Amino acid sequence: MQQRHSRKLTISRTTPAKINVLLLESDANYALSLKQVIESSLPVDVTIVRTAVVARRLLEKEPNHFFLSITSVLNLDSSAFEKIDLLDEFNLPVIAIVHEYEDEMRDQLIKRNVIDYVLKGNKFDRRYICDLISRVHKNSSIKVLVVDDSKVSRFIVARELALQKFQVQLANDGVEAIARLKENPDIKLVLVDNQMPQMDGYTFTAQVREMYSKDELVIIGISGSADPRLAVKFLKAGANDFIAKPFNYEMLLCRITQNLDMLDAISMAKRISNTDFLTGLYNRRYFFEYGNKLFETFEMQSSAPALTVMMMDIDFFKRINDKFGHDTGDEVIKNFASILQKYFADDVIARIGGEEFAVISQSTQYSDSFDYINQFRLAVANQTMLIKQEKLRYTCSIGVTTVLGRDLDEMVVQADNYLYQAKYAGRNQISGNLTQSNQS
Ligand code: GH3
Ligand code: MG
Ligand code: MG
Repeated sequence: MQQRHSRKLTISRTTPAKINVLLLESDANYALSLKQVIESSLPVDVTIVRTAVVARRLLEKEPNHFFLSITSVLNLDSSAFEKIDLLDEFNLPVIAIVHEYEDEMRDQLIKRNVIDYVLKGNKFDRRYICDLISRVHKNSSIKVLVVDDSKVSRFIVARELALQKFQVQLANDGVEAIARLKENPDIKLVLVDNQMPQMDGYTFTAQVREMYSKDELVIIGISGSADPRLAVKFLKAGANDFIAKPFNYEMLLCRITQNLDMLDAISMAKRISNTDFLTGLYNRRYFFEYGNKLFETFEMQSSAPALTVMMMDIDFFKRINDKFGHDTGDEVIKNFASILQKYFADDVIARIGGEEFAVISQSTQYSDSFDYINQFRLAVANQTMLIKQEKLRYTCSIGVTTVLGRDLDEMVVQADNYLYQAKYAGRNQISGNLTQSNQS
């Protein structure tokens, strides 16, 4: 398993691609209003078709175009499920809109390819459908591992999860599950049975918790054991939740959603506390937390690792603020951050103060030459920013150390001393323990 300590927190900047939803609905007014609500709140294209015949034609032509479908089921007569069965035929999961909530209806829906059902006419039905689409879309990027020695149980749980668009992986027992986790460190949720050969669910949970914390990976224990102490045992070993068999799948899905939502909320809070709001770079806090943990991992390694710390500061920044105003100063800071991101994409870059930045790199290239850092410096110095029709140029000074210190603080102090030297020697240059490099 990867050492979690040295992992960078990833900041996602991609906007999700649009998804296509098929709405098979004969009530034209309702269909239109639903389409409007969905498209105005989500990156979704809704295609309305009024009859099953048209839907079939469309699906035959483009069988993989749609992500999911929505259709209504009026009542429990013989033709009630024709539309759902048609969508099922094309392997398209369905959100069913029902007119009445009946147990028989619910059971019939659950048997089919139905993600969930919504009561029509309820004040919140459209909102609920939007939340559902967005949740299922999110599921499609989440890897779930189902660990059970019973082929049948594994299959049934996996089928339900696949219907909710999760990416499902399977394992026979705890040992195999640990191997799966090593191959896929991005698995977010594990559903684990207790009684299994080789390694049981409880032992698996305890072992996995040494590598992944509760707010990085959700583990839900599942067991048919009548002994209520097993749930406590699972939870004390570090499971996030426990479900006793037999359970119904709506309950399982609710618990899964709740646990994943919690994971999301924690990761969002972590992201906010670790990023700088102006630039989106890491902040000082994260820089030191990451760097200090990196040193802990070095202690376990036999060979000396390569580590470079750079401290950077924009030159005469106060003058920019004074001449152009604080807003423009902010634009310069953002501009500097974006060039840093372009040049040091594989490294950890942080804004550690007003116009001060730090980079921590494990690349070996800096021990021989600062050429690359100099290219960065020139990219900053040679550009002209155009702000409110005014041309603006600025430079930066850089201090670099490639000598591995006892800890991060020592390296930061060293790099800061070099930065001071670069300033003192006239700014717009690099100073470091390798060479001094000061050109135009
Ligand atoms: P030197 O070349 O020696 O680094 O000079 P300098 O003017 O860049 O450095 P100094 O430390 O004297 O001034 C930094 C200024 O940056 C002072 C502060 O008001 C300003 N500043 C700090 N944070 C921000 C910010 O978030 N936005 C803007 N616009 N200005 C900031
Ligand atoms: Mg400065
Ligand atoms: Mg400064």
